[in-house]
Amino acid sequence: MPHSNKKAALPTPQPSTEPSSPIPWYQDGLRFQCTGCGDCCTGAPGYVWVNQAEITAMAKRLGLSLEEFEAQYVRKVGIRRSLVEYANGDCVFFDSNSRKCSVYEQRPRQCRTWPFWKSNLSTPQSWGETCLHCPGSGRGKLYQLAEIDKQAAVIHV
Ligand code: SF4
Ligand code: SF4
Repeated sequence: MPHSNKKAALPTPQPSTEPSSPIPWYQDGLRFQCTGCGDCCTGAPGYVWVNQAEITAMAKRLGLSLEEFEAQYVRKVGIRRSLVEYANGDCVFFDSNSRKCSVYEQRPRQCRTWPFWKSNLSTPQSWGETCLHCPGSGRGKLYQLAEIDKQAAVIHV
């Protein structure tokens, strides 16, 4: 399975692999600046986990009832819920023409916090893999440790 940023087409959340050291390897910060390539919303199959608040916000944006929204855009995965994806792996909200998210302002936490996920931050190697698959990771704006950890704590992926 590719280490995708995808919808972070994402791998199933893993148990926390936080380093035991109180000082993370990324203590000097990490760089990230999205290029807008759209690769993280496409590609290999994965999951975009959503909670009730996110479902409600997206349904409201689209003018749908919760029932309508869930029937069209949400799939159950065990006890959790993920956005539907197309057969090619693209997220159901990925606009292939503009290569942008069609619910951007209401996109799920998982999408908002990429690439600062615990799984990506667990080791320098994990971050290196992330940078290989996301051209915006490892370059551009420098994020400080506190902000990175704040984002990583939002959702465990
Ligand atoms: S919800 Fe939007 S940002 Fe998140 S994976 Fe889908 S298209 Fe990408
Ligand atoms: S630069 Fe990274 S975060 Fe931005 S769209 Fe491309 S893969 Fe996604």
